[in-house]
Amino acid sequence: MELIDGNQIAAALIAELKTEVNAISGRKPCIALIRIGDDPASLSYVTKKEKSAAEIGLTSRIILPPVTISQPELFALIDQLNADPTVDGILVQSPLPKHINEVAVFGRVSAAKDVDGFNTLNLGKIAQEDETGFAACTPAGIMELLARSKVDLKGKHVVVVGRSLIVGKPIALLALQKKAGANATVTICHSGTSNLPAMVRQADVLVAAIGRPEFITADMVKPGAVVIDVGINRVPDATKKSGFRLVGDVHFPSVSALASKITPVPGGVGPMTVAMLMKNTVKAFRLQTAH
Ligand code: NDP
Repeated sequence: MELIDGNQIAAALIAELKTEVNAISGRKPCIALIRIGDDPASLSYVTKKEKSAAEIGLTSRIILPPVTISQPELFALIDQLNADPTVDGILVQSPLPKHINEVAVFGRVSAAKDVDGFNTLNLGKIAQEDETGFAACTPAGIMELLARSKVDLKGKHVVVVGRSLIVGKPIALLALQKKAGANATVTICHSGTSNLPAMVRQADVLVAAIGRPEFITADMVKPGAVVIDVGINRVPDATKKSGFRLVGDVHFPSVSALASKITPVPGGVGPMTVAMLMKNTVKAFRLQTAH
């Protein structure tokens, strides 16, 4: 079994982006990060993104509206950033406060600056295989992990468990694309799938994006399969200072014994998500400024 080391692959990508950004003369690509209120998860995500941007040499603009911001006020803020020629990418960090409609907010970000890839137009561009679109960072990161781990999806059966708009559906569309590295036969499973274990056992490449700790067990995996574990779940663990540990959607101890390659949690897909956000920001800069 080979471990797919997301930390190492993300670090290589970050180093490449740093070289690329260093070679840009004049204004550097800029990402605006909107973090609403004091949600601790949002704080940790935005801090990671800010750090990564600084490491590459991107400019980041952090905007911290209060948790009481209304949806029209947030829209006005996004409109301002949409119109600002010195901002290339915009990210509104979720989770958002309950009174704000997340899908409407993602749709308000101009498609050209939607580096998170959540805008309807960008999802459509992935389906149309239009390279000017932005794929959501987690699925884009999975494709990058596979390519850099020399896993060619051509002719393979990819089984995705999960059909969310940010992971399951876009990774299925990316794997399906008629281009080098992709060209897979794709099955998407969800909570309504009959006989899920039998479906999952057919996978040459399995992508688990379920949000249920250690849901995929060894009896559900074909020996030699490549296993990509997207899940990040906190489970109680009295031996840890924090009182919890992170596990994926795959039961790593048993599945790693029969997979040919597998991503760990943490340190697999997670680090790629931030790296791909940076990559998308550089792409947005190039597309908007014709650099
Ligand atoms: P969602 O909750 O939006 O989607 C989960 C999907 O799993 C749904 O399609 C759901 O089916 C399906 N599902 C749930 N239970 C079952 C079941 N018993 N059998 C079959 N299918 C099931 O989650 P996300 O896609 O947003 O995230 C998935 C996981 O990935 C989470 O652990 C999340 O924390 C993690 N994640 C990690 C990221 C990273 O950077 N590494 C980024 C984003 C997410 P149905 O549609 O029928 O309800």
